[in-house]
Amino acid sequence: MTPVPEILNFVGGARLEGRSSFTNVSPIDGTSIATVHEAGPEVVDTAVSVARGALEGPWGRTTVTERARLLRRVADRIEERFEEFVAAESADTGKPLSLVRSLDVTRAVANFRSFADTVSASGLDSFLTEMADGRRALNYAVPKPLGVVAVIVPWNLPLLLLTWKVAPALACGNTLVVKPSEETPTTATLLAEVIAEAGVPNGVYNVVHGHGPDSAGEHLTTHPGIDGVTFTGESSTGSTIMRAVAPRVRPVSFELGGKNAAVVFADANITDTVEGLANSVFTNTGQVCLCTERVYVERSIFDEVAAGLVEQGRRLRMGRPDDAETTMGPLISTGHRDKVLSYYALAEKEGAEVLLGGGIPDVGEDLAGGAWIEPTLWSGLEHGGRAVTEEVFGPVAALIPFDTEEEAVRLANDSDYGLAAAVWTQNLERAHRVAQRMRVGMAWVNTWFLRDLRSPFGGTGLSGVGREGGSHSLRFYTEPTNVCVRL
Ligand code: NAD
Repeated sequence: MTPVPEILNFVGGARLEGRSSFTNVSPIDGTSIATVHEAGPEVVDTAVSVARGALEGPWGRTTVTERARLLRRVADRIEERFEEFVAAESADTGKPLSLVRSLDVTRAVANFRSFADTVSASGLDSFLTEMADGRRALNYAVPKPLGVVAVIVPWNLPLLLLTWKVAPALACGNTLVVKPSEETPTTATLLAEVIAEAGVPNGVYNVVHGHGPDSAGEHLTTHPGIDGVTFTGESSTGSTIMRAVAPRVRPVSFELGGKNAAVVFADANITDTVEGLANSVFTNTGQVCLCTERVYVERSIFDEVAAGLVEQGRRLRMGRPDDAETTMGPLISTGHRDKVLSYYALAEKEGAEVLLGGGIPDVGEDLAGGAWIEPTLWSGLEHGGRAVTEEVFGPVAALIPFDTEEEAVRLANDSDYGLAAAVWTQNLERAHRVAQRMRVGMAWVNTWFLRDLRSPFGGTGLSGVGREGGSHSLRFYTEPTNVCVRL
C-alpha cells in the first residue's frame, strides 16, 4: 500500500507537526487520502505570535501598491500550478474536475486579481478633509490593518471561500491565521506555498489544521492575540464563535447558512427557468450556501415546472471526478450524508410526495464507500414544516404552489435565514419590485450565482453579519484612525 501524504501546519514559513493527527477520507470511495497534523493550543499560539511579529515587521509598512502587486503575483502562481490545485480540491471534495476548473480555482485566481484592483482604486492611502461646526480643522482618517485576523472556512468551496477572505485581508496589510475545514485541508496548504513563492514575508499567512470545538478552531477564536474573526460556515457555529470573541469584543464578519427561496411566476420563460432552477438546486450536490431549497411556483405552471425539474434531475450523472460524463459528485462525507438522509426521511414524515430520488443511489461496488446521494425533489409539503424551514445542504428542494405575488413574497420572506433569493419572471416591473422586497442579502432575477466580485455579498438574520466583496471587504479588514488638526 502506498503511504498517504502528510499535511502539516504552516506557521511562519515552516511546517509544524501537531501532537495528534487525523485521517482525511475521500468522499468518492471512502479511502484514506492524507494524514493531517492537528494544531494543538501550542501550535495556534505560535501561529498567532508569528502573525503578530509579521504585522509589526516590514509587512506592516508595505504600501497599497506593493501589496496589490503581491496579490497579482499570487494569482499568477495559482494559474501556473492550476492543475495541481484542481487535483487537490477535487480529491478533498469529490467534485467533478470540470466544476473545479470552471468554478473553484478560476474564482480563486479572480479573487486575488479583483482585490488587487479594488484596493488600488480604494484611496486607502489618501487623506480625507472636512470642516467641523464653524471652527476650521483638517481631519484625515488613516486606514490601518485590523491586525492579526483569524480566518475560518468550511469545506464546500474550500479554495474559493478562503481566497475570498485572504485576498482582501492581505490587500489591507493584515496578517492571518487560517483554519481550513478538517474535511478539506489541502488547498489552504498549497496556497501557503504559492503565497510564499510570490514574495509575501514569512509569518503573514499561517495555516493551522484541525477540527472546531476543543481543537484548532476553538483555540484560535478564544486566543487573546487575535484582532478579529472572519468566518464562513453554519449559523450555529457562527453563534458559538460570537460568544467566544464576546469577552474581548472583537469584530466578526460572518457568512452563514441559508434556506434560499426561488419564486417562479407564470410569465417566466419556462425552459430557461427550469434549467436555471436545476442549476441552483443541484450545483455542487446542493452544497453551496446560495443553493435554492424552496421553490415557490405560481399554481398555473406548477406541474410543468415540477416535471421539468424532475427531468433535469434525472439527467445528472454521478461518477468519478475525472470522468467527462460526470455532472454530480458525492456529498462531502458519509457523516454529512446521514444528516441529509435524515431530512429525506423527515420530509416524508411531514407529508412530502417524493417526485425524484429520496435515497442512496446504486453507484457500483467500486464507489460504494463514497458519500453518494440521490438528487431529490418534494412536493406536497406545508410551508411551515422543518423540511421547508431548516437548511439541509444537499441536492434537494421543496416545490410549493402560490396564487398571488403578495403570497409569494410572504412565503419567501418567512424564514429565519436571509441569504439569497431568485425571482423568475419576464415582467420587468415585477422583477424589480419583488427582488427589492426579498429580505435577503442577494436577490437574483432570471439567474443564480452570477457574481460581480465588487458587489456586496452576505446575508441577514441567521445568514450572517456584515458584507464581503469589493470595498465592503476593505471596510472590515481596516481600522481607521482619525487625526484632527486645529487650523
Ligand atoms: P461548520 O460551521 O461546521 O464549519 C466551518 C468551519 O468552522 C470549519 O473549519 C470548522 O472546523 C470550524 N468550526 C466548527 N466549530 C467551531 C468552533 N466551535 N470554533 C471555531 N471553529 C469552528 O460549517 P461546514 O459544515 O463546514 O459548512 C457548511 C455550512 O457553511 C452551511 O451551513 C453553509 O450554508 C455555510 N456556508 C455559508 C456560506 C456563505 O457565504 N454564507 C458559504 C459557504 C458555506
